[in-house]
Amino acid sequence: MQIVIIFFVLSWYLSLLMQSGFLHRYAAHKMYTMGPKTEKVFFFLTWVFQGPAYLSPPAYGILHRMHHAHTDTAEDPHSPSYDRTIFSMMWRTAVTYHNIFSKKIEIDPNYSRNLPTWDAFDRFASSWITRLSVAFVYLLVYLWANPPLWMYALFPIQIIIGPLHGAIINWFAHKWGYRNFNTKDTSKNFLPLDLLMIGESYHNNHHANQKNPNFGVRFFEIDPTYLVLKLLHLFRIIQLSPKKEKIRNI
Ligand SMILES: [Zn+2]
Ligand SMILES: [Zn+2]
Repeated sequence: MQIVIIFFVLSWYLSLLMQSGFLHRYAAHKMYTMGPKTEKVFFFLTWVFQGPAYLSPPAYGILHRMHHAHTDTAEDPHSPSYDRTIFSMMWRTAVTYHNIFSKKIEIDPNYSRNLPTWDAFDRFASSWITRLSVAFVYLLVYLWANPPLWMYALFPIQIIIGPLHGAIINWFAHKWGYRNFNTKDTSKNFLPLDLLMIGESYHNNHHANQKNPNFGVRFFEIDPTYLVLKLLHLFRIIQLSPKKEKIRNI
C-alpha cells in the first residue's frame, strides 16, 4: 500500500517539476538558459518522470504560446470560456497538441521560434509502443505492491498525469482565485500557497509577468519550482538572469 502512495506522490511532483520547470518556463517562455547537453538531459528526465504521459517540449511550447497569444478567445487551445467541462477542454487540447506534434496544422513562425528540439527522442518517447510499455511497467508496480482495490483509481491519473496537470491550471486558474494584477484576461491565482502545483497556481502573476521565472509576488506566494531553478543556477546547471527575475510591483 505505501509503495503505491510513494510511487504516485513521486510521479505527481517530479512530472510536475519537469512540466513547470522545463516545458513551461524553459521551452515555452525561455525564462532561463542552459547548454545543449543539459537540454538533452532535461528531455530525458521529462520522459522518465512523465512516463506514458510524455509531452514533447517543442509541441508543448507552441501550444502554450498559442494560449498566451489568444487567451480567452476562440483560438485559445484551452479555455473555460469556450469549453463547457474540463473534460471537453482536455479533449480539445489533446487534439490541438496532436495536430501540432504531427505537423498537421500550419504554425505561425512566432510560436515555433527558438524552441528546444530533439526529434528522434520525441518520436521515441511519444510513440504508442513506448507509452503503452511504460504504462504496463506502472501496472506491474501496482500488481507487485498489491494495494487495496480503491488505490487502482490512482493508476489512470498517473498515466495521463502531464495533460491532467495542464488542465488543472488551465481550467481552475482561469475560473477561480484572486488577482494581483489587472490583466486583460481571466487569469487568477488559484491557490495562495501553492504546494500542490508547485507554483503554477500563481497564474495571474504569470500572465502579468511572462518572462519572470519566479511566479510568486506576495510574501506568502512561495514558488517551489523557482526555488529548484535557483538551486540549479547555483550549481551552474542552468543560467537565470537577474533582469528577468525582477518582480513587477502590484
Ligand atoms: Zn506561460
Ligand atoms: Zn492562462
